[in-house]
Amino acid sequence: MIDKIDAVYIHIPFCNYICAYCDFCKVFYNKEYVNKYLEALDKEIKAKYRGEIITSLYIGGGTPSSLSLNELEKLFSILKMFKLSKDCEITIEANPDSLALDKIKLLKSYGVNRVSLGVETINSKLQDVLERRTSKDSVITCINNLKKEGITNINVDLIYAIKGETLNDLKEDLNFLLSLDVTHISTYSLIIEDNTKLKTNGVNNIDKSLDRKMYDMISSILKDNSYIHYEISNFSKEGYSSKHNLKYWHNLEYYGFGVGASGYIDNIRYTNTRSITNYINGKTIIDKEILTIKDKMFYEVMLNLRTNRGIDKEIFKYKYKANIDDIFNYKELVNSNILEEDNRYLRVYEDYFYVLDEIILKF
Ligand code: SF4
Repeated sequence: MIDKIDAVYIHIPFCNYICAYCDFCKVFYNKEYVNKYLEALDKEIKAKYRGEIITSLYIGGGTPSSLSLNELEKLFSILKMFKLSKDCEITIEANPDSLALDKIKLLKSYGVNRVSLGVETINSKLQDVLERRTSKDSVITCINNLKKEGITNINVDLIYAIKGETLNDLKEDLNFLLSLDVTHISTYSLIIEDNTKLKTNGVNNIDKSLDRKMYDMISSILKDNSYIHYEISNFSKEGYSSKHNLKYWHNLEYYGFGVGASGYIDNIRYTNTRSITNYINGKTIIDKEILTIKDKMFYEVMLNLRTNRGIDKEIFKYKYKANIDDIFNYKELVNSNILEEDNRYLRVYEDYFYVLDEIILKF
């Protein structure tokens, strides 16, 4: 479906602890705020949702699993207003420490069929840098519980390129993730963002050449273990790519609800306020980008090329009433074996994923 909105993102900004690298929209968990926040979320959804059938619902954060059982019940009673398709992918982000068995049972009863767990690293030296503690045991217990309750579609997040990290440290983290036998692994090269504690602590990004070696190591180890490198930073077992995230990369429209959330509706990309107080007071959207046809084509190229599918030339023609080769001058990239082109698709060879930004500039 490319004409109708069928994806929903919900942002839950609460966290039980704040990690030093984090620049997401988040606040410390606070019971009083959670109630007010859920009421504001309810209002925002009622005001914007137009009743389309939804095929992917993604609850991200923050840490949605930091909510109590009652608060999760309340959240899901709000989300009931969406008309979900039978096979709707319902994902929730969680931290292993705040996802006990009772919460897993509750998620299952509300149809959650995919869980994305923040593991990041289990190396204590690197956890000290990130100021984040997740024990091996809590991850193993959480994943066993999820599988026992029938939630077998599980993503784990890995952060690498942390100051002081060696290739061997990374290999150990990867081996641990592989031992979990999950369907999906998302990887993030640590970037020190402004307004984070890491920046204040004077931590720098690691050397670019080591970052590249780490990227290549991840790709090679995960592929050797039958994960498909289907997006620059994402790997999945056959048939388990994230339906929801693919919609972003395929440049499809989606609803975004909650503080700091962004959405894409009726040719407008919008961003909600990052102030929880303003959000609770109903001052929701702070920024709108109204897209011209040129902007939309640019997003199409930039986002599609992140994936191993690449640009679907037929969809491009359908959406923009033009052939892609009449709009962009990319043949040189094909002749240099950077882009692979067949009748239907145009994609970047995997070896060039790492330098995609440079390729897009040439495009
Ligand atoms: S990284 Fe995740 S758990 Fe840590 S503060 Fe940010 S949103 Fe919260």
